[in-house]
Amino acid sequence: SPIPDYLQEVLDDCRNADGGAVADYIPELASADPDRIALALTTPDGTTYCSGDADVEFSIQSISKPFAYGIALLDSGFENVLAKIGVEPSGEAFNEISLEENSGRPRNPMINAGAIAAHSFMDGKNADERAERFRERMSMAAGRELSYDESVFTSELDTAYRNIAIGYMLRTHNILETDPDDVVRGYIRQCSLSVTTRDLSMMAATLANGGVQPVTGRRLSGDRAVRQVLSVMMTCGMYDAAGDWMTTVGIPAKSGVAGGILGVLPGQVGIAVFSPRLDSHGNSTRGVKLFERLTEDMGLHLMEVP
Ligand code: GLU
Repeated sequence: SPIPDYLQEVLDDCRNADGGAVADYIPELASADPDRIALALTTPDGTTYCSGDADVEFSIQSISKPFAYGIALLDSGFENVLAKIGVEPSGEAFNEISLEENSGRPRNPMINAGAIAAHSFMDGKNADERAERFRERMSMAAGRELSYDESVFTSELDTAYRNIAIGYMLRTHNILETDPDDVVRGYIRQCSLSVTTRDLSMMAATLANGGVQPVTGRRLSGDRAVRQVLSVMMTCGMYDAAGDWMTTVGIPAKSGVAGGILGVLPGQVGIAVFSPRLDSHGNSTRGVKLFERLTEDMGLHLMEVP
């Protein structure tokens, strides 16, 4: 197949794109090797093509949000989840402390306020049970047993004042109905799941496949939940650069502060990239470049008239 050579070429072209800095508001993330770069692509039959550091592990961070939202829809039902979490793009930074004026609902499940609420809608009596539920489902999507990065988890928990503040605000509005400290702890654990670019690519392909894991053939989610998840990724997945991303790359995607980006072309392909240096929006600088290049070469953009 010519695909591996092509991916290597794209990687080499984007390797020298500079700019950006590794996230340091979570102390442990500051120690990431800034030069890592990886690209992976999984087709609907479950074949994954990789180049670069595709087997290096990093924490999933915000890329966990669309999946936790999907699990919340499955565990608690659309009605309950939609009553407490909106689906409007906020155009704000991921950690903005903002809720809708009248309802007190977080605007969407991709900003921290909405993601903390979504975490609370997954099955489980406490942080550890919900985190375990999340880990199990994600392992099924990745096709291998995943684990948590304890040092990223404790490092983030030790400095989580802002997310704890968001948790208490959600509790005030009854968006959270249980102990906010426990929910935020579970959310931070969820963000510390260790994944590789190859894993993310397989997860992306599961979404591209309408919720069916391409290798095992196991259905992990209903069509409607996948449609819901992809829709919020499309409108809210790239922090306050969602409009930029939509016009230049044009597929639903989600980025995380450890440097990963996962993108889905429904029915066609799952894509993942990784590179730790971030731009001012918090998206991987070289990761965005890689996706722009793929879109240009492969015509991924959903609004492109064939
Ligand atoms: N755990 C991180 C936080 O809540 C995730 C941020 C991200 O990846 O955008 O601050």
